Amino acid sequence: MREGRIIKVSGPLVVAEGMEEARMFDVVRVSEKRLIGEIIEIRGDRAWIQVYEETSGIGPGEPVFLTGEPLSVELGPGLIESIFDGVQRPLDKVREIAGDFITRGIEVPGLDREKRWGFKPTVKRGDRVVEGDIIGEVQETTLITHRIMIPPGVNGVIDKIEEGEFTVEDVVAVVKTDSGEFKEIRMMQRWPVRQPRPYKKKLSPTIPLTTGQRITDTLFPVAKGGTAAIPGPFGSGKTVFLHQLAKWADAQVVIYVGCGERGNEMTDVLMEFPELEDPRTGEPLMKRTVLIANTSNMPVAAREASVYTGITIAEYFRDMGYSVALMADSTSRWAEAMREISGRLEEMPGEEGYPAYLGTRIAEFYERAGRVICLGSDDREGALSVIGAVSPPGGDLSDPVVQATLRVVKVFWSLDAELAYQRHFPAINWLRSYSLYLDNLDDYYKERLGEEWIEMRNLAMWLLEREAELMEIVRLVGLESLSPENRLIMEAARSVREDYLHQNAFHEIDTYTSLEKQFKMLDLVLTYYKKGQECLKKGVPIDKIVNLEIREDIAKAKFIPEDQLERIDEMKRRLIEAMDALSP
Ligand code: ADP
Repeated sequence: MREGRIIKVSGPLVVAEGMEEARMFDVVRVSEKRLIGEIIEIRGDRAWIQVYEETSGIGPGEPVFLTGEPLSVELGPGLIESIFDGVQRPLDKVREIAGDFITRGIEVPGLDREKRWGFKPTVKRGDRVVEGDIIGEVQETTLITHRIMIPPGVNGVIDKIEEGEFTVEDVVAVVKTDSGEFKEIRMMQRWPVRQPRPYKKKLSPTIPLTTGQRITDTLFPVAKGGTAAIPGPFGSGKTVFLHQLAKWADAQVVIYVGCGERGNEMTDVLMEFPELEDPRTGEPLMKRTVLIANTSNMPVAAREASVYTGITIAEYFRDMGYSVALMADSTSRWAEAMREISGRLEEMPGEEGYPAYLGTRIAEFYERAGRVICLGSDDREGALSVIGAVSPPGGDLSDPVVQATLRVVKVFWSLDAELAYQRHFPAINWLRSYSLYLDNLDDYYKERLGEEWIEMRNLAMWLLEREAELMEIVRLVGLESLSPENRLIMEAARSVREDYLHQNAFHEIDTYTSLEKQFKMLDLVLTYYKKGQECLKKGVPIDKIVNLEIREDIAKAKFIPEDQLERIDEMKRRLIEAMDALSP
């Protein structure tokens, strides 16, 4: 193996000489301790290495070993249920070997080499296969069937394929390629993390990633294969919200990348996630989840690796034809790592010390999201939706990381400490949030829920905006000064907020709302408003409309189970009756 020599160590950054053969983003092992590093800059025979492990005690003169390979992940059965560090070492295995502290340079493969998986072929000898084709399946967990695919770049005819129990390194099939070579196919593939995995075609974002959360599905939907950002000031309910997404979003596979602070932030996730239940099956959520976590004793640079490792694993499950949701919490910590490394490289700093390429890196990351036609002859569809949490200092949204993120993501869910303080959950601020997918998704909603849905959603939003304006007036001159029409708007908007948007994640029924139930619930709220307008025209005093007893029903609609939605229709009938009966 070729080697260079360290000439300088500066925190997570090591400079070495004698590195003529090094290539950008190749992995090197630093010193006899064999710390994992990645080359991030080359000038002449010198290379600058970002080291993903603690560098204390390492000094000039020590060797740097070139591997000639880019930072890669292992893809195959065994990913699901794993908890990896940023360079894909399974934390439980590391702990077994090293105790509670990761001994530096420890080498543990990402995928278990001993474990045998039941492989069932789905093609036979003589079948023609192209890159991306599924040739067999492994029941990886009770919830996920792992589809074994022909790796990119391989096309030919199946020469041999066998059913049986295999390790990830065993040959499960042989393909005679078009050039006449025999290519052995194993269940495990390797893929360089900084390179997006290929697909045939990107599709437009026309299907929503439903979440069962009313405020996001109704007002600020994200598309399947779309991108969203969410800031989470402390105590604003970010953790609960991300858990809700992991449980309920219309995605089969969840990848959670935890780029936490060096301490407790990450332990929360590590402790809590494995305890979550998949609500639809009652199985542990981990049976369809991969966790990537920066442990407290890994330096900041490892955050960068974890983001890339996570998105590559997510793309791999997308390639199987799954809907995948990746959550990165928090991308601000990743950006801070970039800033630190950039500073040590003595690069020209951009805004607030972040490197000038901050925006590009963030954009490249989110651009790996998408709904695609996967490689393979069956033209299956896969989707990778990316939700990134941002945590600007002091909650300041003008922060460069937030701004760079908002330039690329299409949805912004503005979690708001003030709303959380008022116990309005999910604490997503309806005036500051937005979704740029609304137009793209309209056809889907019209078909599923009917043309009226678009109008209903717009009316709900309009009421909330009008309420905010009227609130200003009320603050100045009091509620009594409002016209009956405006009082009605205030009442209806309150109903939108309290009866509709407010949703209790911990209530058995309220925790999830189907689109059909959302339609009926919103219809109920808006019927009150529209009927109220009719009443006012007939001369009914506003107080009678405000004090209608039957309004209590509207508040209870959220607790009606999904299989009894006709009860909401019944409520609507009674509401109309009661309002028709109001007299001037
Ligand atoms: P953060 O991660 O932003 O610090 P959490 O997600 O832990 O905050 O939320 C703080 C508290 O807010 C939770 O313990 C819970 O009581 C409440 N909460 C947050 N979201 C919801 C929700 N959707 N429904 C009910 N309660 C919620």
